[in-house]
Amino acid sequence: MDNKCPMCNHELIAFKNGSSIGVRCSSCDYSVVTSYIEPIFEDKNVYTIILEKGNALSKDSLKTVSGIIGKNYIAAKKCISSAPSILFQGYAADVMDVKKILDTSAMKYSISPKFPY
Ligand SMILES: [Zn+2]
Repeated sequence: MDNKCPMCNHELIAFKNGSSIGVRCSSCDYSVVTSYIEPIFEDKNVYTIILEKGNALSKDSLKTVSGIIGKNYIAAKKCISSAPSILFQGYAADVMDVKKILDTSAMKYSISPKFPY
């Protein structure tokens, strides 16, 4: 990209602000904003979340697992007691949502391949 302002020929400065990136002029009001896509949304790898052994069969863990797999407590109980078992498969952005739930519930799990976020 040309790094001189088309309006006044001063230098353009790159900036990042939340979900926007662009360049703005160091002198006048000229700026170009483009939306920025987080790399996680462009990641087309399919990740697998594996529930590890050693998770307690508590009301909380059943509720968490049940919510993730979208099935009842009986299926959730089976998933926990037969661990390691596949809890979820999906793209990075979806895996991140599940990861957040698992992290707040302090459950033991792993993600394959290595989850870089
Ligand atoms: Zn300018």
